[in-house]
Amino acid sequence: MKFDTVIIGGGLAGLVAGISLQREGRGTAIVSTGQNALHFFSGTFESLTEAPQRMTDLFGEAGIRLHYRPGVRLMPMGTFRESALSLEDVDLFPSPEFARKVLIVNFMGYHDFFSSFLAEGLEKQGMQCRIRLINLPEMDKLEQSPSEMRSVQIARTMDRIWEKVVQEVRVLLKDEDAVLLPQVFGLQDTAVPGRIRQGIPARVVFAGTLPPSVPGIRTQMLLKRRYEVLGGTYLMGDEALNAHVHEGVVHSIVTKNLDNHYLEADHFILASGGFFSKGLRSNPFNITEPVFGLDVEYNQDRNAWYDKAFSADQPYMQYGVKTDETLHGLSDGKPFKNLYAIGSILGGTRPELGSGAGLAVRSAFAAADVILSEAKNLE
Ligand SMILES: Cc1cc2nc3c(=O)[nH]c(=O)nc-3n(C[C@H](O)[C@H](O)[C@H](O)COP(=O)(O)OP(=O)(O)OC[C@H]3O[C@@H](n4cnc5c(N)ncnc54)[C@H](O)[C@@H]3O)c2cc1C
Repeated sequence: MKFDTVIIGGGLAGLVAGISLQREGRGTAIVSTGQNALHFFSGTFESLTEAPQRMTDLFGEAGIRLHYRPGVRLMPMGTFRESALSLEDVDLFPSPEFARKVLIVNFMGYHDFFSSFLAEGLEKQGMQCRIRLINLPEMDKLEQSPSEMRSVQIARTMDRIWEKVVQEVRVLLKDEDAVLLPQVFGLQDTAVPGRIRQGIPARVVFAGTLPPSVPGIRTQMLLKRRYEVLGGTYLMGDEALNAHVHEGVVHSIVTKNLDNHYLEADHFILASGGFFSKGLRSNPFNITEPVFGLDVEYNQDRNAWYDKAFSADQPYMQYGVKTDETLHGLSDGKPFKNLYAIGSILGGTRPELGSGAGLAVRSAFAAADVILSEAKNLE
């Protein structure tokens, strides 16, 4: 199978690169093993304080709206963090002027939403909180198995019964200015959070739950759908194992499911994530990139990989593959001619690309641009 570009990894970076190339009429394939960091996404794009126009366009065409306003966000454990560019339904929460009294509502049997921690955090900010539980018969079936009582399963039910939730909250609401609900709405139907806001006569804030993240999974689903609508081939559940390389040019990759059918392409993008997604592997002696054997930036002294202070910035978080300025991956210090590395597999600090989801998006655009301009030069 021959493509213009083959992308390894279908997380945020791989999907943004794939959509960018498909939009320009390039035929691409994404091979992706499975779960990615979007499944844990807070909904906020670290290191982006505004969306570049092309990001607004790309996400908007996929049905994802973004916003940025300076302020703070309420985190799932009741702490606060500076906001960055966010998905539309991620709220900036609240200054004490914003709400004096808050009603926190959870669903009976749902343990991944920490109402008490949230109340404690808000009370430290001078707000008064009241916690109430709603008992919905539609959730009885889910409650029979604790593994079913997770955010995504609940969100599937909530897309159907959100009007009932609005009615129940209206009954519970007394003199509160704000209502805090778990972020388990709008998985399939993105209009649901807006309808809930309209139906409740107080400011409604959706607060993060423990993973999986409903806004993150929705973002992944919408980007993947957009990629496929544009004609991209998404090989879900397959894994790139190794590559055929000759004189610094990658010709094809071997995957687990395609046996002897190699994926050939003119360009390859490695978007396989960091340690979390197994884009990087470590053992007690070294850190490697398993598919192409790219050079990895890390400290040779194993004891320097981490800081014993749990909450400190951990050095290993900066480790990743080395590239040249145009993101070509390096092997023994020499750049591959047609292989680019993007997203959280990149090592070092790259101020021009930022960090977190900002890095994933910026580096994806940058690699797509290099591929498009190289292709143009050849035409
Ligand atoms: C748990 C977690 C939560 C985060 N939350 C945030 C947040 O809220 N905000 C923020 O700004 N940043 C966050 N980050 C930082 C995060 O790295 C970026 O936001 C971004 O989503 C990373 O995207 P990525 O595409 O580079 O990698 P990933 O999302 O890790 O995707 C890599 C994909 O490649 C696949 N893959 C790996 N190896 C292979 C192979 N050999 N063959 C085929 N597929 C392969 C993996 O299965 C995975 O699907 C978070 C990171 C983690 C780990």
